[in-house]
Amino acid sequence: MKKEQYLGVNVSVMTYDEILDDLRSRISEGKQSTVIAVNPEKVITANKNPLVKELINESTYQIPDGIGMILASKVKGGSLKERVTGVDMMERLLRFAAEEGHGVFFYGAKEEVVSEAKRKLEERFPTLNIAGYENGYTKDNQALVDKINASGAKLLFVALGSPKQELWIKENMKHLNVKVFQGVGGSFDVFSG
Ligand code: UDP
Repeated sequence: MKKEQYLGVNVSVMTYDEILDDLRSRISEGKQSTVIAVNPEKVITANKNPLVKELINESTYQIPDGIGMILASKVKGGSLKERVTGVDMMERLLRFAAEEGHGVFFYGAKEEVVSEAKRKLEERFPTLNIAGYENGYTKDNQALVDKINASGAKLLFVALGSPKQELWIKENMKHLNVKVFQGVGGSFDVFSG
């Protein structure tokens, strides 16, 4: 997979469709994959915090979310041509899940936000199976892991803010049957609005 480096931070040079094609084969091989959004602010944070850099660089796809990444690529003669935003990636993944018959799970945000995001997205994607959800303030992590596994979801969207959500994914992915993880920050707030 083609990547470019910005101050030591990996960024994938891939379009939405290339990521979805790649994910389709990784899922069929039983591999887990993680999607993380990268913007100039995160590149700066990563250079102050080695854990953040590690979380970004060990993700499967680092999507260039933010026009700043495209401009930076232009300046250094790189190949990033267009933004791949976290919210749009999530939408593409939801459509992909509906088409492929994969269940999805939402974890994060306030109860009224995540439940309303679920309701609105079910209206928008009638064939999508939202297998379950949990707000981002639960204290019982083991119960949450069990709930996600029991739902049978293959895709999990985690909205706890960055880098909390990426850290949660790293610590819990080995206990989950989920194949695709995306940290989505404030996206449930966007979809519920
Ligand atoms: N959040 C959460 N649990 C926490 C902290 C934050 O569920 O312990 C949620 C919060 O309600 C909001 C989202 O995480 O919906 C944070 O979104 P923000 O826009 O701050 O994230 P960013 O995209 O800036 O990383």
